Amino acid sequence: MRFNCAFCGKPADKPASHVNRSRASGLRLYCGRACSGLGRRKWKSKDQRVTEKRDYDAHYRRNNRETLRAKKAAYHNENYDPKAAAVARRKRAPLHAEYCRRPEYKKWKKTYDSYRRAKAYGPASEAFLTLLELTKEIKGRMNNYEIASAARRGIPEDIIDFSEK
Ligand SMILES: [Zn+2]
Repeated sequence: MRFNCAFCGKPADKPASHVNRSRASGLRLYCGRACSGLGRRKWKSKDQRVTEKRDYDAHYRRNNRETLRAKKAAYHNENYDPKAAAVARRKRAPLHAEYCRRPEYKKWKKTYDSYRRAKAYGPASEAFLTLLELTKEIKGRMNNYEIASAARRGIPEDIIDFSEK
């Protein structure tokens, strides 16, 4: 019985019982094994294949965590060459520099660094951050000479009198 292959579209011939059984079950008919394989692959969209593979990989990693960790460690021990790694890092250095030059990265890094530095002051870290802001404000209003001379003179007594009365 003649039919057209569901994958390549070319006419093919198979026993009538085969064709009828397939049609009754709503299955697609192919001219041969190659088209059958390719045809079944064809019906999944790229998104679906990507999603299925991602889910499969996640499942596999979850169920084989220890084995994978041991394998990775063994591979690292066998193959890690600090000198070659340094060369590879050096190769990517210009890209990394470019990454760090982006304005949004600079902004993020500034905040990150100030919090990191403030951590060293433990419970006083908030006070340290406030001091940084205050210093920035003062430097925006006075130059170094003015700051130094104000520090020498002290606060004039006619402005604020600290003496007890
Ligand atoms: Zn075919």
